[in-house]
Amino acid sequence: MTSCRVGLGYDIHRIANGRPLVLGGVRFESPWGLDGHSDADVLAHAIGDALLGTLGLGDLGTHFPPGDPKWKDVSSLDLLARVRTLLEDRGATIVNVDATVVAEQPKIGPMREQMCAALAGALGIEPSRVSVKATTNEMLGAVGRGEGIAAWAVALVEVGS
Ligand SMILES: [Zn+2]
Repeated sequence: MTSCRVGLGYDIHRIANGRPLVLGGVRFESPWGLDGHSDADVLAHAIGDALLGTLGLGDLGTHFPPGDPKWKDVSSLDLLARVRTLLEDRGATIVNVDATVVAEQPKIGPMREQMCAALAGALGIEPSRVSVKATTNEMLGAVGRGEGIAAWAVALVEVGS
């Protein structure tokens, strides 16, 4: 007897000059990146929160406190791999992840496959089980003015009893 659990994640980071831009574990060519303690991978963070949410395990900040020097500039793919272990330790298997990046720039499309592969590698699942979509905010609000990048994610896990 198995059951399915769903989780939701959301994250947003400010744009900062001179920082690397990493989305879904992939480095983008860009003069600016995202501000944050780790690599500020907003997409990976939304996915991590969605995965933790499936079992009600809190959020990334609980498990990897931003003030802890241990996580400074750490790859968010490493954090996702740790989240995967937390889930596996509780008997959960990741079924799939679906995410949307909200950004005026950069263009996500050309990097989509690479991002899915990187995320799937960290999560130990097939790339076909990771979906990354992108949209703009139609120039509305802070994201629309290019002040930041946001991401939404949902995740489904199967738990054996
Ligand atoms: Zn974040």
